[in-house]
Amino acid sequence: MHDMTMAQQAALLASGELTSADLVEHYLARIEQHDARLNAYLAVDAEGARLAAAEADKRLQRGEAGPLTGIPIAHKDIFCTTDMATTCGSRMLENYVSPYAATVVDKLQAAGMVTLGKANMDEFAMGSSNENSYFGAVANPWQENRVPGGSSGGSAAIVAARLASAATGTDTGGSIRQPAAFCGITGIKPTYGRVSRYGMVAFASSLDQGGPLAQTAEDCALMLQAMAGHDVRDSTSSVLKVPDFSESLNENLAGLRIGIPDEYFAQGLDSDVGDCVNEALSVLESAGAILKRISLPNQNLCIPAYYIIAPAEASSNLSRFDGVRFGHRCENPQDIDDLYTRSRGEGFGPEVKRRILIGAYALSAGYYDAYYKKAQQVRQLVSDDFTSAFAEVDVIAGPTTPTTAFERGAKSDDPVAMYLNDLFTVSANLSGLPAISAPCGFADGLPVGLQLSASVNQEARLLNVVHRYQGLTDWHRRMPDAVA
Ligand code: GLN
Repeated sequence: MHDMTMAQQAALLASGELTSADLVEHYLARIEQHDARLNAYLAVDAEGARLAAAEADKRLQRGEAGPLTGIPIAHKDIFCTTDMATTCGSRMLENYVSPYAATVVDKLQAAGMVTLGKANMDEFAMGSSNENSYFGAVANPWQENRVPGGSSGGSAAIVAARLASAATGTDTGGSIRQPAAFCGITGIKPTYGRVSRYGMVAFASSLDQGGPLAQTAEDCALMLQAMAGHDVRDSTSSVLKVPDFSESLNENLAGLRIGIPDEYFAQGLDSDVGDCVNEALSVLESAGAILKRISLPNQNLCIPAYYIIAPAEASSNLSRFDGVRFGHRCENPQDIDDLYTRSRGEGFGPEVKRRILIGAYALSAGYYDAYYKKAQQVRQLVSDDFTSAFAEVDVIAGPTTPTTAFERGAKSDDPVAMYLNDLFTVSANLSGLPAISAPCGFADGLPVGLQLSASVNQEARLLNVVHRYQGLTDWHRRMPDAVA
């Protein structure tokens, strides 16, 4: 069953050839078999999943089901759930059970999806390797000594190892796309505001965006359809009507203008990764697309700008974890300062502390203009580059990441090397644009991701291009041997 895509499973559920109960038992058994090695799940709610599956099967029998009814998923542990803890990969929230559920969780539940459990992640979504989780690193199912990427590494490993049909993730600087690339699956970061952030623990509020990770663009389209839409509880959520993402999946690519930025194929890009991406571009060209060289002149400023803005917003957002209202509280505080200091000192891990320090520094009087304000100005330049580019092309293509998945521990002591993983992904967040990563080959047995970005609200276009590409290739159908 797990070798099917979500859309294929949905068709069998609809025709009655498969039940949600069977599907859930199948994945629970797979989790039992494989997750001790992968550590991709932080919590599994077998009982809750069985109950939801029974409910979904009734809905299916009554003919009241939608395309997602009965499909088992995992939620990144950044999405608040009321029946399981929401740890955000942190000791700070180790025992936190939210009194309310995230809008994304509610919407997918209303669509009939069955939650199997919560996915491991980098602490507070800060990281590119999932080694920053308080609950231990996640293994990449393709080679278990490699990282799955981050911060939605648990979600990506779960989908790649077929321990759920799909998963939710969040992307602040690449955390859906980079792990999707490292794990050989498809993941889309929607336009900023397309998906409600309500109940999604905040990292950097002007960049954070939730989205799906699944095997295919078709599956992502189904998930995004249910996740997207205006939410009165998130004032930044878009009021625009959500298009029918599945309807346009098959549109012809003839005449599609694909921009290839010179800056994406420059220094820092592993040549094997570049070869796979070029091969994918030829496939798109043979399908009728027109390739056009373009330039994004401020691309080299994206990482420095992001690593000021994201920590600045994080330092503000994470001030709520003070030992009083949320999460971890130290033993026997002597006074209020001691309570704050020790609760935060014990509750947060090293990368989170590093971000809080960088952010507080960048926002402090005297440095604000030099760092934060400057970074915001750069952000505008980056955004302007895209506006100019999208006057000439429909989508922009390139690699999702400069390399394939690296070995665990390889970059743990070098934060800057770690941050460079996000070289090609952060610009979409800085500009609020949608971007997708899809599998486009292998280098030394490890998956390579093709990234496509488009103008705001053009998710349908991205899903369409990747769907057509996936009709011509089978990289997205490959499964790691160890979990086959
Ligand atoms: N790797 C980036 C970071 O560490 C992106 C994280 C994310 O998108 N949540 O900030």
